[in-house]
Amino acid sequence: KPWIADEARYEAAKFRRSGRSGLQLPEISLGLWQNFGGVDHYQTGRAVLRRAFDRGVTHFDLANNYGPPYGSAEENFGRIFAADFQPYRDELLISTKAGYDMWPGPYGNFGSRKYLIASLDQSLKRMGLDYVDIFYSHRLDPETPLEETMGALDHVVRQGKALYVGISSYSPEATRQAAAILKDLGTPCLIHQPSYSMLNRWVEDGLLDALEELGIGCIAFSPLAQGMLTSKYLDGVPEDSRAKRGGSLRPALLSEGNIARIRGLNGIAKRRGQTLAQMALTWVLRDPRVTSALIGARSVAQLDDSLDALKGAPLTAEELAEIDRHALD
Ligand code: NDP
Repeated sequence: KPWIADEARYEAAKFRRSGRSGLQLPEISLGLWQNFGGVDHYQTGRAVLRRAFDRGVTHFDLANNYGPPYGSAEENFGRIFAADFQPYRDELLISTKAGYDMWPGPYGNFGSRKYLIASLDQSLKRMGLDYVDIFYSHRLDPETPLEETMGALDHVVRQGKALYVGISSYSPEATRQAAAILKDLGTPCLIHQPSYSMLNRWVEDGLLDALEELGIGCIAFSPLAQGMLTSKYLDGVPEDSRAKRGGSLRPALLSEGNIARIRGLNGIAKRRGQTLAQMALTWVLRDPRVTSALIGARSVAQLDDSLDALKGAPLTAEELAEIDRHALD
């Protein structure tokens, strides 16, 4: 029998407006970069998505090459969407991206019109969707004119294949240029997706100021620093952790210095009665220019733990100063 979402799903949910647009995002959004691929456990991913929506997480973030293998997160999402979420399509924001390596040859990477438009068509097929809510240029392509990349974003909106567009990991300067081009084309830039966490604060050096000025939202990816901002690495590297599974979280990042910083941060979280993951999310969301914190979760328990960040008290000035001492030294 069909799955029915929790009727109370919006009771505790919190939303923020993306820049000066009409669109609101949940304060915490869920990304499918890892844990939803062909190599992962399908029913676990399905349970995580159901639980997220039951708790008011209306935004799921994908990209063409999430998996592994490439494309498989979109395929799995498509299966789950068809089985569980079809009736809720208008309550969901689904995003995808193109910009990194996807298929062989010169048309399956970076930022050409050729690549972006073909890739979105493929993504829609894999997910079984008519349109995505947000389509992103996943990274700046230094060798393609920005007019071409932004022109492709404008085009897919005019085709009805995306409702809004965004950019990811663009520098403040490239963001200003992209926003100006998009504005001229008549398709405003809705949102920027940069990395941001207590251990990675590059956005504070001009990007957040630019976004505020331009009226563009900000969805912060890897707010838990891929799991480093949890207590899991304090006593060694657990077998089932991302650092052990290899790939994106380089074990070199788990240096003595970093572990000492994480231990210090963990102490502050404990005093607040939060887990470190929860404090890391409260921290990213302390800045009203951040529209949403974009987390990953390998289990329903992790998801629940992270979403409970929204129940926590705001950080005090003393706590923020103490966090800076650990995070910036
Ligand atoms: P996080 O920083 O939230 O890391 C998620 C990982 O941390 C989980 O897979 C899990 O790893 C661990 N974890 C999560 N919650 C908890 C918890 N409560 N307690 C203990 N451990 C926990 O984000 P991601 O790096 O996964 O990125 C999130 C999303 O951001 C992606 O899915 C994607 O949508 C987007 N993204 C975008 C990029 C871009 O270029 N635009 C690049 C990277 C991500 P473990 O397996 O170790 O338990």
